[in-house]
Amino acid sequence: MDACKGRFAPSPTGRMHLGNIFTALISWLDAKSRGGTWLLRIEDLDTQRSRYEYARLIEDDLSWLGLEWDEGGLDDTGDAAPYSQSRRSGIYAGCLSRLEATGFTYPCRCTRAGIMAARAPHQRDGRVIYGGTCRPGILPCHAPRPDYPHAVRLYVPDTDIVFTDCLRGRQHFNLARECGDFILRRADGAWAYQLAVVVDDALMGVTRVVRGCDLLLSAAQQIYLYGLLGFRAPEFAHVPLLCNGAGQRLSKRDGALDMESLRRTHTPGQLVGRLAFMAGLTVSPEPCSPSDLVPLFSPECAGVLAADSIQVG
Ligand code: GLU
Repeated sequence: MDACKGRFAPSPTGRMHLGNIFTALISWLDAKSRGGTWLLRIEDLDTQRSRYEYARLIEDDLSWLGLEWDEGGLDDTGDAAPYSQSRRSGIYAGCLSRLEATGFTYPCRCTRAGIMAARAPHQRDGRVIYGGTCRPGILPCHAPRPDYPHAVRLYVPDTDIVFTDCLRGRQHFNLARECGDFILRRADGAWAYQLAVVVDDALMGVTRVVRGCDLLLSAAQQIYLYGLLGFRAPEFAHVPLLCNGAGQRLSKRDGALDMESLRRTHTPGQLVGRLAFMAGLTVSPEPCSPSDLVPLFSPECAGVLAADSIQVG
């Protein structure tokens, strides 16, 4: 059996908040309680919003909490370096070529505005489903790459992708209905999250992906990509999102719950104790360290972790 390797893959677009460190703690405990290792990857593909300074603060906040990583981070500790996505372009390009060779990718000239105007069906949560304007009539398609700027899209089948989430049980998603053909590389050359995350988790040897349940549909897209690339998919566990008093997902606007404020009002032990109590791992929010929680933890032990959201009072 492969050694367990978990990971935390934050985007350095702001200071972490309670929701981010909740996910980080659960992912760390999940790996450590299986005798595994934990990797830190910096997901800085969005060059407009990502800042080195935020990545440094993420590392500082994790260390302050006692959530040390065994591999990755800004100093690129480990064999799968680099661990910042902005420096992995050549690796993504190689994997994109492999996908193009399958004949299930195609060039797309549609703009987001154009897709909206074409009245492609929209989901209530604002997701835009691609209507297939640029999709070739016959697939697989091996036409040469055009020389005009274009995105690269991946054809998705009209069948269910089925998988078992370690917390939420059996899941099935029809990608054609839920998201449509999705982008692998944007027209401006930026790599899409779905491609980068699959390539990175596979090449970094990640076996357990613990992250927020807003990414449940992404897991189905990613499992489809794992198959096309011939990689083995990791196990997935999607944890609840933290919500504010108004029932909205925590965001940078909830200032009192960002790490700058939390570090002023808590010791590391108090904050870890509060998170453990929220996760249903302890019966009271007594201060503790992440290592104290390892013997108490199994993701399935806390029913709380199977909920879609947890309200932060
Ligand atoms: N970078 C993503 C985020 O910060 C997480 C992606 C993942 O865990 O797969 O939301």
